[in-house]
Amino acid sequence: MVIKKLLIANRGEIAVRIIRAAKELGLQTVVVHSTADANSLAVEMADETVEIGPASAAKSYLNVEAVLNAARQTGADGVHPGYGFLAENADFADAVEAAGMIFVGPSGAMIRKMGDKASARKAAEEAGVPTVPGSDGILNDMKMAQLVAMDIGYPVMIKATAGGGGRGIRIAESAEEFVSLARLASEEAKLAFGDGGLYLEKLIDAARHIEVQIMGDGGNFVHCYERECSLQRRRQKVWEEAPSSSLSATVREKLCSSAVALAKSVGYRGAGTVEYLYDDKTGDYYFIEMNTRIQVEHTITEEITGIDLVAEMICIAGGETLSFCQEDIAIQGHAIEVRINAEDPMNKFMPSPGVIGKMRIPGGPGVRFDHMLFEGYKIPTAYDSLLGKLIVHAGTRETAIFRLKRTVSELRINGIKTSAPLFLALTENEDIKHGEIHTKWLETWLESNSDKIRPIADIE
Ligand code: ADP
Ligand code: ADP
Ligand code: MG
Repeated sequence: MVIKKLLIANRGEIAVRIIRAAKELGLQTVVVHSTADANSLAVEMADETVEIGPASAAKSYLNVEAVLNAARQTGADGVHPGYGFLAENADFADAVEAAGMIFVGPSGAMIRKMGDKASARKAAEEAGVPTVPGSDGILNDMKMAQLVAMDIGYPVMIKATAGGGGRGIRIAESAEEFVSLARLASEEAKLAFGDGGLYLEKLIDAARHIEVQIMGDGGNFVHCYERECSLQRRRQKVWEEAPSSSLSATVREKLCSSAVALAKSVGYRGAGTVEYLYDDKTGDYYFIEMNTRIQVEHTITEEITGIDLVAEMICIAGGETLSFCQEDIAIQGHAIEVRINAEDPMNKFMPSPGVIGKMRIPGGPGVRFDHMLFEGYKIPTAYDSLLGKLIVHAGTRETAIFRLKRTVSELRINGIKTSAPLFLALTENEDIKHGEIHTKWLETWLESNSDKIRPIADIE
C-alpha cells in the first residue's frame, strides 16, 4: 500500500465509512470539516482534523485550494472524495495528482469522459451498450433542441450533462412548455454544478432503475452484480436492494456484461456504477449514466458479495491490482438499504433539523446501520438530510423485508423526525412484497396512501 495517510474530503456517514475502511487498512486518517461540522462523528473518529471553512459548502467542502492545503499541511498522500461534493470534479482529481498525492478514484480525464453524461452516452454507444433514444450530444441551440425533441416525440426528458442527485432534470410534455423547462434545467445545473449543458432523452415510463457495480484496475474489470433502486422520490433513491427481484439470469448476465464491456472499453480504474433503466415488459434496457465514484447504496453490494468496496478502491488507487476475479464473486442472499433522512414523511418530507436526543440503534443478525449520529448531535442545516443508512441482509428477499420491518421498529431517534415511518409502512405493502415496483411507484403511492405512514413513538 503506497498510501500511508488518507485525507477524507467529505462529511457525514460516508466520511465515517471511509475512516473505518482506512483504519482497517492500517492508514492514518485526516478529515477536513467546515465550522458547522466541528462537532461531528467523523471529526471525533479521525486521527487528525483540519477546519477548512464556514458552513457553506462552496467555501469549505467544494473549496479545492482549502482541501489541498489541508492535505499538504498534514502530509496526507491520498485523498478520498466520497460521494457528492468534489467526487466527480475532474479538475479536483487532476489537482490532487498535480500536488503529488493519490486521488482515490479514476483520473481527471476518465471523470471528464464518463462522469459527463452526454459524453458517457457516447462511450456507451461505442461499447455497444444500448442507450435511451435521444439527442446526439449537447444541444447548443434552442431551435435545434426543439426540432430534436419533436423528432424523439413528447414527453421528453431534458437532462443536464453535469446533473446529479436528481437535479438538472425536467420532463417536457409538449413543445409549448419545452423552452421554459429547458431553461430551468440548464439554470439549475449551472448553479449546482457550474455547467448548464443539456441533452435530451425519450421518457422511459414506469421502468425500473437497475445499476451495476463495477470495479477496474485499468487492466482487470469485474462486476459485483446489480442493485435495484426503483423506489425514488423526486428522482432520488430512498430504498435500494440487491439483487434485483425482477431480472432473469439471462437479463442479469446481459446487464452485467454490458457494464463490464463499457468499463473495459475505457480502461476504467476504481469503483464505478453503470446505471440503466430496465423495462421488464419488453426486456429492453438502456444505459442512463455512469457514476465514477462510490455510491450511497454501495453497502448492499458489500452485504451480498462480502467485498469491502471502499477498502478495495483505496487499494486500487494505491497501485494494487484487483484482489478478486469475476469467478470469486457470488450473490449470497438479499440485502435492502433504506435512507434515514432528517425529514418528516408525515408532512411532505419537510426537513427536520434539530438536536438528537436518546437513541436506540437496532442490532441482531443481518443488521448494519451506517450513520453519523450520537446523542446531543446538532444536525447542521447547510447539507443534505441523509443521517444514515439502515441495511439488512437475509437469505431471501421475503425474510429481508421481515427483517427490515423488525429493524425499523427497533430504531428510535428522539428529538427529530426521520423517514423511518415511511419504511415501516412500505414493508407492509403488497406491491413491494411482490417486487412490483418502478421509478414512479413511490410518488404515486404517496399521493393516496400517506395516511398509512404512522408515527413511531419516542423511546422513554
Ligand atoms: P447515489 O447515486 O450514490 O445514490 P445520488 O445521486 O443520490 O447518489 O447522490 C449522492 C450525493 O451526491 C447527493 O448528495 C447528491 O446531491 C450528490 N451528487 C450527485 N451527483 C453530483 C454531481 N455531479 N456533482 C455534485 N454532487 C453530486
Ligand atoms: P442523476 O444524475 O440525477 O442520478 P439519472 O440520469 O441517473 O440522474 O436519472 C435519475 C432518475 O431519473 C432515474 O433513476 C430515473 O428514475 C429518472 N430518469 C432518468 N432518465 C430517464 C428517462 N430517460 N426516462 C424516464 N426516467 C428517467
Ligand atoms: Mg443517477
